[in-house]
Amino acid sequence: MEGQNDLISMSVLPNDLLRVIFSQLGRSDKVSVAMVCKRWLALSDFPEASGLSISVGHCLCNVGIDEHGDAWLQVCLCKDHGSMASLSWFLPYFARSTETFSLEDDLVSGERISNDDIFVLLAGCAHAQLKKANFIKVDFGDVKPWTLALLANCSNLNEIIYEDCLFPNGIEVERFLIRIMTTSFECLSTIKITNCNMVTDGLARSVARRCPLLEDFTVSGCKSVTSHSALSLLESSRLRKPTMLTTHMENTSFDVNQLYRQIQSPYFCEPGTWKLMPMAIRIGYEKAAVMAQSTNQTCVLIYV
Ligand SMILES: [Zn+2]
Repeated sequence: MEGQNDLISMSVLPNDLLRVIFSQLGRSDKVSVAMVCKRWLALSDFPEASGLSISVGHCLCNVGIDEHGDAWLQVCLCKDHGSMASLSWFLPYFARSTETFSLEDDLVSGERISNDDIFVLLAGCAHAQLKKANFIKVDFGDVKPWTLALLANCSNLNEIIYEDCLFPNGIEVERFLIRIMTTSFECLSTIKITNCNMVTDGLARSVARRCPLLEDFTVSGCKSVTSHSALSLLESSRLRKPTMLTTHMENTSFDVNQLYRQIQSPYFCEPGTWKLMPMAIRIGYEKAAVMAQSTNQTCVLIYV
């Protein structure tokens, strides 16, 4: 047997022999083998992912998993590779214990991940108890709202991050994002949305009173965000368990003088209880921030 015949003979090997062969492989190779076909999936005792980082791009298909169960997948979206077809049946097994899910869009500009591709990825994690969902530079422009709404099935998220993502035209992005994170409001400690001009003060107003565990709120680069967002977070501080909330409002329309006037106003719900201290925080370099401190010892640190 030579050349191509070797490949053909692999598929006619009995199950017991394939099991022995697969058992000799390393962790990452076991995952690769399990993605080949459903028969091999059943025969390889592949390790499940406890964390899953997926990057989608072109003409690089690769998979790896470390000893902690942190897995990474480079997925090529070209038709030749057929990666998404494999993932549609493989991911529900591989990701059933996944707690952290990260998706990064490495497509060249002008190309978009399709609705079907996002559906495969989100539906593949539908039975996982996700604690963290992280989307990096993902262009959701061609994705249907009901596909993205699969995230609403995750009701235990501690962290939801949309970093520099693009959203479909014709939907009210802010209201939509709030709606799909509502199921996790009780657990959310980190909410991060960056460089999205469709996010306004409505986001802070909605989450401030409804996320009792909130510790980190980031809206950097969202130009429509103003000091009203900070005001909502100050007013609701008694409703949160953590006594410190860190917020990032760099490159927004936040204005510390406006916030100062707002907390001095008779319309502010706790007049005279908050003071603002401009400061420079050292994090390797000096970063401008405002510390808002209340007489009941709760603090809101605002990076500006
Ligand atoms: Zn390819």
